[in-house]
Amino acid sequence: MIIVMKPSATEGEIADVVERLTAESARVQRLDGERVTLTAGGGATGGATGGPTGRGHIDTMPGVDAVLPDGAGTPMVAPREPAIPASEVRGFEVRGRWIGGDEMFIAAGPCSVEDPATMHGIAEAVAGAGATALRAGAYKPRTSPYSFQGMGEEGLAIARDAADAHELLLVSEVVDAIQIPVAARYVDILQVGARNMANTSLLRELGRARRPVLLKRGLAATIDEWLGAAEYLVSAGNPHIILCERGIRTFETATRNTLDLNAVPVVRGRSHLPIVVDPSHGTGRRDCVQAMARAATAAGADGLLIEVHVDPDNAISDAAQTITPETFRRITRDVRAIREALA
Ligand code: PEP
Ligand code: MN
Repeated sequence: MIIVMKPSATEGEIADVVERLTAESARVQRLDGERVTLTAGGGATGGATGGPTGRGHIDTMPGVDAVLPDGAGTPMVAPREPAIPASEVRGFEVRGRWIGGDEMFIAAGPCSVEDPATMHGIAEAVAGAGATALRAGAYKPRTSPYSFQGMGEEGLAIARDAADAHELLLVSEVVDAIQIPVAARYVDILQVGARNMANTSLLRELGRARRPVLLKRGLAATIDEWLGAAEYLVSAGNPHIILCERGIRTFETATRNTLDLNAVPVVRGRSHLPIVVDPSHGTGRRDCVQAMARAATAAGADGLLIEVHVDPDNAISDAAQTITPETFRRITRDVRAIREALA
């Protein structure tokens, strides 16, 4: 059983609920996030959701917002399903830009930070084409330990400079909790990569971080597992989560991954969290990126994450899926036209 307290619940009200549950010999776990949630297992808690005939009556206690069964594992990120009052509006603001509203959130840039001149060239090009944010990895989760692993803090500083020069937000990945304080000094939105979606200790730490998080879907994660990962972040206190569909593993080998655009309407129907689509990792092929960016926009995505480089063939990582600024300009033009046509 999950007890979600109201944002206004007092410590006294929380203590009363804990006492009632403990008296019924339930094991109680408290999670302090945006709201306090209590999870209760064992004991005689069955009566608590059963209304006036049960022993608990937890749902009518002062400060309690909702009492949910254990199966309702994502009450914070899928509030429309269980009966939690939808106090959260769709989307949120990051440094003056609203993510999840009328405007598409478009993050573009190289897979990895390389050198200052290249970074500035890319930032200038994507800003000119209408990007909202610069994306660039400084800590890279590579398949091989012998591949380029990223420039670390030096890379973050280079990317920050380039983003500032062109009034872009900066999105960059952390692969380990130890990098969070350093990255948070430079980055506006911290990315969790597909390989780390299920790293619950990293998610808990990011839940405590004072930065929005872009959470990529795992390579073979179901939508439920992905929302469960988002629940870790929100229940630990970070409501500012952007979900990113980046393709999943299937039997198909013609593309690097299979971009699951079904996820867009499914997630939009279940969660208030913004959802963006990454057609670069989703296809692994630069000849497919524009078509899938269009499709994602038409499907209702709140934004896109796209790998762009001034010299894609010589990009230090993910060259095969990286597009030119010119193709990127065509994509932003398409996105505007599709949004207008569907408005
Ligand atoms: C990336 O965005 O460069 C990246 C490593 O993505 P993913 O985690 O989706 O593979
Ligand atoms: Mn990449």
